[in-house]
Amino acid sequence: MLKGKVAIVTGASRGIGAAITQKLASLGANVAVIYAGNTEAAEAVCENCRQRYGVEVKPYRCDVSDFEAVRTTVAAIKADFGTVHILVNNAGVTKDGLVAMMKEEDFDRVLDINLKGAFHMIRHCTGMLLRNREGCIINISSVSGLMGNAGQSNYAASKAGLIGLTKSVAKELAPKGIRCNAIAPGFIGTDMTREQADNPLLSMIPLGKMGEAEDVAEAVAYLVSAKYVTGEVLRVDGGIAM
Ligand code: NAP
Repeated sequence: MLKGKVAIVTGASRGIGAAITQKLASLGANVAVIYAGNTEAAEAVCENCRQRYGVEVKPYRCDVSDFEAVRTTVAAIKADFGTVHILVNNAGVTKDGLVAMMKEEDFDRVLDINLKGAFHMIRHCTGMLLRNREGCIINISSVSGLMGNAGQSNYAASKAGLIGLTKSVAKELAPKGIRCNAIAPGFIGTDMTREQADNPLLSMIPLGKMGEAEDVAEAVAYLVSAKYVTGEVLRVDGGIAM
């Protein structure tokens, strides 16, 4: 289905990003895997995809919060793959704390990675998407961005910001054939949620359990294929934000 297409997935060394990479590779896409520092994990994801699906999958170490580093990395991906058709902005971090005590640096760092990181990627990839006159951008937001969450004012703000970014980019680039959507996952079992086993919110999930990274990857595959869907926010949350 995606044979000959090139995808970039940020935060793809682990968790949801690794599952998205696997899914896109299984559909035939070549994938550029962006990660922050975990080289061993990123290389393992790439090797696994190459062996299983016979596609080109390559790791790029890049801090998405760094505008110039993203410019250089996207240029390297262009040199290696020629172009890009699918961009998945998945890299994200939490630095939770009560707002009354939150350090400015913790607020800034979360915004810089989760929100500005997506802007940096879109900013540097849009030229290639425009030249192709087709493209698909998917931003991984969160139900925290829809509902807010005590102790996550920085994270929820970044994820709500991603929704505004998504809808604006969708409106701006729709006439050029480029779609932009967001996914809002609920509780998904990854490193990020490892310490959430006792979170009382878990008992409020209508489907009664945490999701898996593959559930989000399925939603990405759907949005890549859904040619008449743009500016949408797709919840993958077991119903918690209903
Ligand atoms: P995770 O397991 O903690 O993985 C985070 C990924 O982001 C890793 O690949 C990490 O790279 C990368 N990363 C972190 N900072 C980066 C930076 N500055 N530049 C580039 N890459 C960076 O997280 P996850 O649970 O899979 O979450 C993925 C996305 O889904 C995030 O945006 C998160 O906010 C969102 N989300 C998750 C959940 C959930 O329940 N898990 C729910 C809603 C939304 P390294 O391995 O190199 O450190």
